[in-house]
This record gives sequence, C-alpha cells and structure tokens, in this order.
Amino acid sequence: MRIGAHISIAKSLSEAGRLTRTIGGDTFGFHTRNPRGSAARQIGAEEIADWRTMQHETGLGPLVGHLPYVINLATPKDGIREFGERVVGEDLKRCDAFGTYGIVLHPGHDTEGDRPAAMARIIAHLNGALQAAGQVSTLLLLETMAGQTGEVGATPAEIGALLEAVGHPAGLGVCLDSCHLFAAGYDMRSRAGIDAMLAEMDAAFGRDRIRAMHLNDSKFPQGSHKDRHEKLGQGELGRQGIAAVLQHPFLRELPFIIETPVDDHREYAGEIAVARELAG
Ligand SMILES: [Zn+2]
Repeated sequence: MRIGAHISIAKSLSEAGRLTRTIGGDTFGFHTRNPRGSAARQIGAEEIADWRTMQHETGLGPLVGHLPYVINLATPKDGIREFGERVVGEDLKRCDAFGTYGIVLHPGHDTEGDRPAAMARIIAHLNGALQAAGQVSTLLLLETMAGQTGEVGATPAEIGALLEAVGHPAGLGVCLDSCHLFAAGYDMRSRAGIDAMLAEMDAAFGRDRIRAMHLNDSKFPQGSHKDRHEKLGQGELGRQGIAAVLQHPFLRELPFIIETPVDDHREYAGEIAVARELAG
C-alpha cells in the first residue's frame, strides 16, 4: 500500500521527503503552488536532482500534487478562466520535471446556475491546458466533489461527461476523495456501498480512470453535501468507514493521500498510523 499525507514542499522536495519518512509515509501530496494565489516557486535542477536521488534510495512515491483552489475553469469571468488554464498547463510541466504521478484539479464552480454553460467552459479550458502542457507523464486528475452549491463533479455522470467531451486523453484521470464521496451521498462504510459506487463509476467513465484517492473522514453525515474533512476514524465515516475504504480490493491499490485537519504536519504520523492499522 502507498499511504502519505498532504504536506508542504515550500522548503524543498527532499525536505518533504524527509518529513514523510519521519511520519511513516510511503509518499506525499503537496500544493503545486500557493493554494490561494498565483505565485509558483521555482524548483531548480539541483533541487530536482537531490529529490531524484532520495526517491531512488527510499522508493517514495507516487507523488500526487494539488492545484490551487482558486482555479475555476467554469466561471463566466474570462480572466479567471484564462489564469486557471495557464496554471494547469504550467503546473503539469513543472510537476512533470520532478516525476509527479498526478496533479489534482477541482473541476469547477458553476456560479450562475447554468450547468451546460459551465461544463462547456470547463471542457474548453481542459483542452487548452492539456494542449499547452504537451507531452508530459504527469496526469491531470479531476477530483470527485461533495456537491456544495455550484460544485461541478459531485456525480460520476458529470465527471464522465467531462472526460468524454475532451476525448478520454490518456493524461486525464480521476482522483477520489472519501469525504467528498460520502458527503455526495455514497455509503463508503461498507464493501457493498463502495462496490455500488464503483459500478456507477464504471458506467460513467470506467474505474481504470481512477488513479489516486484522498483519504479523509467527514465531519458531516452521508449526503450532507458539505466538504469538511475530519481526522481518520473521528468523523461520520468512522473507523469502520475508513477501514472499508482501505481494505477494498480495488481502492487499496491506489495511492492514498491524507488531508485531514492538523495543526502541524508532524501530526500526520498519528493519522498514517491509524490508516495502517485500519488497512489490516
Ligand atoms: Zn481537492
């Protein structure tokens, strides 16, 4: 199994690798750049070489990045959409340079209540970003959302429609989130519930598109459509739910990235330990 937490690469990739080893992770997640802003840290050749050496020695990976939350490819505001497309394209290239497996994107936010128009904008800008990125190995992963007001991507059908419209390119996949899926209405607390959800995903886009999973408990109940992460085993999914996710024969092959609320990234040692215990 590959379990890690979402930590900072602000100092360096190798620093994130060292922290990951300290907290018992096999891999890590990170923000591709400042989550609320546009500034991208320059990750130079020397830092990448250091990281490659460490990765070779430790086997850490596969790395799963996260694009800034401010990106909204669905908005009618041209400037914001163009900024988003540019950042997605740039970060695919930046993260490919140090061997990132995939970077996660929230599909978009429909602020007007006009879903077809929002979907059309997302599709156009996904195409633009993938084209701008060119030949990269890093995957762009659309995240399944909780379905808060206006959130696109809370149903497999909507994710499937996006994938289909851009022609199912090999570089485009899906990242699940146990909190979001549970909040969106799926019963993740049992094998049968997860199987039913995956069957729906098979019909919508095929489970082979699923490449990573954010592992989070949920502060709010099933179907609440509220995206509030909770520590593993301490939320509405509870120990039973987190165990069902980690022990599912399909899901357990995915890299798991924990994004639960902590005051300090070193606290993830406890979360990773809980995950390993519940994974059986
Ligand atoms: Zn996310």
